[in-house]
Amino acid sequence: MSSKAKILLIYTGGTIGMSKDFETGALKAFNFSKLLQKIPELKQLDCEIETVSFDTPIDSSNMNPEEWTKIAVIIEDNYESFDGFVVLHGSDTMSYSASALSFMLESLSKPVIFTGSQLSIGDLRTDAKENLITAIQIASLQQDGKPVINEVCLYFEYKLYRGNRTSKVNAEHFKAFTAPNYPELVESGVHLKLNSHLFLPIKTSSKLIVHKKLDNHVAIIKMFPGMSEPVLAAILAIPDLKGIVLETYGSGNAPTEDWFLNAIKKAIQSGMHIVNVTQCSGGSVNMGQYETSTVLKELGVISGKDITTEAAITKLMYLLGHGIEAENFKTVFETALRGEISL
Ligand code: ASP
Repeated sequence: MSSKAKILLIYTGGTIGMSKDFETGALKAFNFSKLLQKIPELKQLDCEIETVSFDTPIDSSNMNPEEWTKIAVIIEDNYESFDGFVVLHGSDTMSYSASALSFMLESLSKPVIFTGSQLSIGDLRTDAKENLITAIQIASLQQDGKPVINEVCLYFEYKLYRGNRTSKVNAEHFKAFTAPNYPELVESGVHLKLNSHLFLPIKTSSKLIVHKKLDNHVAIIKMFPGMSEPVLAAILAIPDLKGIVLETYGSGNAPTEDWFLNAIKKAIQSGMHIVNVTQCSGGSVNMGQYETSTVLKELGVISGKDITTEAAITKLMYLLGHGIEAENFKTVFETALRGEISL
C-alpha cells in the first residue's frame, strides 16, 4: 500500500477554478478533471490527488445549507478512502461555509481545508496556485501515519486559519481573510511553521458524525444609531423566526431605551434565541461590563463572546436543526463546540 497521503479536491465553484477565455475575456469554469494538465506543478507534490466537482459549479454568493450538505456528503462518502480534503470555493462566502462545515462534521479526524483565490487560476498574476498547492501540502501532512490537522480550516495567502474563526475582510487584496480572535494555525514561508499548540486536539477513537439538518429560520440584525422601533418590530414579527444574531456595539452594548429592551424581552419570552455578537472585527462581547449591556444579560440574551458573525449564524442553524431543548440552548451556544469561541 502506498504511504503517500491521498487528497480529495472538491471543486464547488468560485474564481479559483475559472480560466479566462482569451478571445472574449470572460471567466468560465474549466474542466476539473483536467486539473493536473493545467497545473503540472501538482505532480511534484508528495501525495495522490483525486478530484470531484459540483455538477454545476457555483459562485459562492449562491451557497446555502443545501450546498453545504452536498459538500458534507462528498466528504462523508469519501471519508475512509482519503487522508484529507481540500475544498475549492469562492472567497465571498467561504467563511460561512467553513464555519457551517465545522459544525456539520463532528469528531473530524482529518483535515478539511477550504481555499480559493482572488484571481482565476488561468490569470498570469494568479494567487490560486500558491493557495491550492500549499493547501494540498498542508492537508497531506502526516505524523505516525495520521493526519496532523483534524479540523475545518481555511487557507489563504500564506496562512492557515481555523475556518470558523475567519472573515473575509478585503475584496481586492490577496490577503482577503483574517481571524482576529485566533492566531493562524500554520504560516507558510520558506518553511511551513506549524503552531501545533493551537490545533484542536487529535481525536483517536471517535467516528465522524455528519449533521445534515440545518434550520435557517434565523436572521442577523446589525444595530445602528437611529434604528427605529418599527424596523426591529418587523424583523421580530417574522413568522417562525427562531434565532437572531444581534450585532451590537463594542463589548456587546445596545441602546437602553424602553422600546428596544421591551422588544428583546418579549421575543426571548416567546422562545426566540438572541445571540449578542460584536460588530467590531476583533475582541469579545462581555455583557455586564457597561450599563448598556447589563439588561441584555438579565433578559437572557446569549453571549456570543468572541465568535464571528459567520460562525454565530451557522452555529444557530446547526443547534436549531439539532433540536437542542430551550432550557439548554444558551449553555450549549456559549460552549465552544469546534474551537469557535475562546473560553
Ligand atoms: N464571487 C466569487 C465567489 O465567491 C469570488 C471568488 O471566487 O473569490 O464565488
